[in-house]
Amino acid sequence: MTLKDRPEVRYALWQAYQRKCAICYKDFFNYSDLQIDHIIAESKGRDSKEFQEILKKYNLPSDIDLNSLENLRPSLGKCNKLLRVAE
Ligand SMILES: [Zn+2]
Repeated sequence: MTLKDRPEVRYALWQAYQRKCAICYKDFFNYSDLQIDHIIAESKGRDSKEFQEILKKYNLPSDIDLNSLENLRPSLGKCNKLLRVAE
């Protein structure tokens, strides 16, 4: 099970962000609406120019684990879906 699928991680992120969506800042009314989103999408290839530029921009280590807590944030399912379409 990856970190983002663990119930205690979901709950901790929900609390850490004051029970708000990290994308639109709306309050969650239902815990069941909570989806855990990768801040840097896993879909970007690690060797891609875009990925390397993100690392540089935010001064991140090249061996960053995209499934680590630092790369996870809570979001509403609909916000998460909108972002995926935009990618
Ligand atoms: Zn949202």
